[in-house]
Amino acid sequence: MAAPPPLESKPIPPAEGATPALAQWFAAKAAHPDALVFFRMGDFYELFFADAETAAAALDIALSFRGEHRGEKVPMCGVPVHAHEAYLARLIRQGFCVAICEQTETPEEAKRRRAPTIRREVVRLVTPGTVTEEALLEAARPAWLLALAPAGERLGAAWLDVSTGAFGTESLPAAELPALLARLEPAEVLAPEALARGAALRMLPGRITEAAPPRDALRRLTEAFGVATLEGFGTFAEEEVAAAAMAVDYVRLTQAGALPRLSPPVPAGARGLLQMDGATRRSLEILRGERGEARHSLLAAVDRTVTAAGARELAARLAAPLAEVGPIAARHDAVGFLLAAEAVRGGLRAALKGAPDMARALARLSLDRFAPRDLGALRDGLARAEAMAAVLDGAAGVPPVPPLLAAARAALRPADSPRAELARALAEPLPARLEDGGLVAAGYDGELDALRALRDGAREAIAALQMDLAEAWGVASLRIRHHQQFGFLAEVPPAAGERLLREGPKEGPQAPLHRQTMANAMRFTCTALADLDRRVAEAGEQAARRERLIAQHLRRLCLAAAGGIAAAAAAMAELDVHAAAADLAADGRWCRPEITDRAEFAVTAGRHPVVEAALARARGPAFVPNDCDLSPGRRLCLLTGPNMAGKSTFLRQNALIVILAQAGLFVPAESARLGLVDRLFSRVGAADDIAGGRSTFMVEMAETAAILNQATARSLVVLDEVGRGTATWDGLAIAWAVLEALHDRIRCRTIFATHFHELTALAGKLPELAPAHMRVREWRGEVVFEHRVGPGAAERSWGVHVARLAGVPKPVLARAQEVLTALEARARGRDPLAEELPLFARPPAAAAPPPHPALAALAEIDADALSPREALEAIYRLKSLLGPVAEGAD
Ligand code: ADP
Ligand code: MG
Repeated sequence: MAAPPPLESKPIPPAEGATPALAQWFAAKAAHPDALVFFRMGDFYELFFADAETAAAALDIALSFRGEHRGEKVPMCGVPVHAHEAYLARLIRQGFCVAICEQTETPEEAKRRRAPTIRREVVRLVTPGTVTEEALLEAARPAWLLALAPAGERLGAAWLDVSTGAFGTESLPAAELPALLARLEPAEVLAPEALARGAALRMLPGRITEAAPPRDALRRLTEAFGVATLEGFGTFAEEEVAAAAMAVDYVRLTQAGALPRLSPPVPAGARGLLQMDGATRRSLEILRGERGEARHSLLAAVDRTVTAAGARELAARLAAPLAEVGPIAARHDAVGFLLAAEAVRGGLRAALKGAPDMARALARLSLDRFAPRDLGALRDGLARAEAMAAVLDGAAGVPPVPPLLAAARAALRPADSPRAELARALAEPLPARLEDGGLVAAGYDGELDALRALRDGAREAIAALQMDLAEAWGVASLRIRHHQQFGFLAEVPPAAGERLLREGPKEGPQAPLHRQTMANAMRFTCTALADLDRRVAEAGEQAARRERLIAQHLRRLCLAAAGGIAAAAAAMAELDVHAAAADLAADGRWCRPEITDRAEFAVTAGRHPVVEAALARARGPAFVPNDCDLSPGRRLCLLTGPNMAGKSTFLRQNALIVILAQAGLFVPAESARLGLVDRLFSRVGAADDIAGGRSTFMVEMAETAAILNQATARSLVVLDEVGRGTATWDGLAIAWAVLEALHDRIRCRTIFATHFHELTALAGKLPELAPAHMRVREWRGEVVFEHRVGPGAAERSWGVHVARLAGVPKPVLARAQEVLTALEARARGRDPLAEELPLFARPPAAAAPPPHPALAALAEIDADALSPREALEAIYRLKSLLGPVAEGAD
């Protein structure tokens, strides 16, 4: 959280004089002052003092009291152990961090030690960036823990997803931190104090945890991976190593010393990625829509994956498209192959559908925090992997299987796969929890089978005893029931019980021994029943112990093959992405983009996938495709047109086509030939920026400055009405200067939408600037937006035109046109650019007309922003300012 949650609602009292159990709580709290302590008390996790007050408020549960400490009642709240994950999830999502303090011995063990209370220890720290439980994770999103280690002007970064073991590092200029944060959207960031409190991290929605890089980073890292040197994984800068060690140390701390299975770190330095900053990502709504919801994002529009792991991989690819021709083309080869090989694609998707999330199951197994379904997930997942490999085997022939698919096929059959063993060992259906018993299938382990037979035999004996006792005690309604606390007891109605107490048999194995009197029953046992009870309990306990042993054996088997299983899981996710992209392209309206190393850009009949999908859902008019040519000679497209004509849509669709193409997917167009883009910039004029808060013009200019400082000749820049966050002439001047810089100095491909029609005058000055406009026409008295891009600049007077179409009387229109012309002439008179521009050259002796109130009012109107109705109202207002005008002279 930007602001850490207020944990200290009331100061925690000193520990002196605490009961033994409470003293344990104080110790746990002292070790983890920033965390809420979940203190295990039997079937509940309880929270005390300030923790209780905070948690009760955050979870909306009852706050009560338990006992006293130093003469005051102790505030307490609790959550049942069996349902605690849901409560944990809510706390973690609110940015809290929780220390789980478990009972680490049985009451018997405590008694044997003569300890005053059961031993309890913090076994784990649950933080937003280190969770592995399904309930705490989003299925389709990675949960990145990001560690940052500053080194002068540079920054070491390491990001790690404990739930899958994925691990990446990068050394970057400190100034690029915001872009990295925007790309990863970490759930938790580790940073030294100064950085943690700095501006870049303050606004972040994830949790910020202060931490420093360890001194002996390299040694700690090589130890964690059991290698002598990191060279086998790639080349790492010192600061990358520091950050990676920080992340690993923190994970170890939260898991109370245990380390989950981690893939070796992958340094990003070697891979070329398309660079995009936060403003670009926000304006293009890649993973999330404008208001943070996933529905209207690019991801949602193109996601045809069928597994959560596939969805995560697709999101990762869209968030970090590539910037190297070879690897991109390799992905396109895979998609193209699966597009053509329909049966292969169908076979893969059928095998993937409903496949379990092996990567996350593996993480829980490695932390010994697994449920039976996690073993089941590996059994089923590996079976699916095998089936997919078989599907790909069937595809061998002409054309040959492309390299990426061949590599995936090899990974789908990991060495030492525990699949067969799991298939033999696991029962069907699996129990929800290990404690429930029944994990292991009958016939897998002879010893377990024998123990179970003993337990079940004793159960049968108890059923027989029920009949015997009913007869011996003369109570036909006698029932033997099992009680958590007392084991097996015979239950009889109260009257029968009274009689048994008075006149039941006094001796022998079946003599009733009274245990409990309830309102509607009395409970008895006898030595025969107690014997059987003990046998059932012992056999049951032994069977459970045996089952735990087997579960651990299976766990070790899986972990021994973990690397291969993780690779198989990654291959499945990758195949899901390729097959999904092919599925999307199967209707023939998505094409394979051609990625080249030249500075070209030619899209024919391109579409905006999100707007197109929205229009299709609304069953309205179809999306109108548009070409975009930014080839050398016309690198800079200057787009004009009235509001609602489709300018923003056109800009974004071309940026999205680049993202899709370089992520390795096909694109919504008839054809696309794209010179590789190294950096993509997208900006929206401040008036569209509803986030507000800071001076919008300041934001706009800061974001524009970033482009001018970072864009290269290989970049693509789309600017949507930049400059409108300020008074007209400032905005125009800035837009003008920016355009010139992009054209002359940076020489990148650019699409620039503007309502400053004056800018079209630049066409004569800047040879590579190609003006274009959104076509609009009139049809049966209405303005029709064709949503089609045409060459040349737009017609200007749309405000008055719209007013005419809205039925404003002709004399008023005529007068409005007059006023407008006069205003424009006056504006030109003050035009600082007039000397530059022949178009706006100052007329020789044109004296400005005397100011009139109507002129002032008209100057206020932003003609492009008016709805027909507002235009009509504006005209009436102007009219009233002009005084009486003859009407009906039509
Ligand atoms: P502008 O930026 O010019 O104000 P927008 O790009 O925001 O216009 O588009 C306004 C609306 O017009 C969109 O919400 C969409 O419904 C529609 N639209 C835009 N482009 C197209 C298109 N190519 N085909 C069909 N409808 C479109
Ligand atoms: Mg717009």
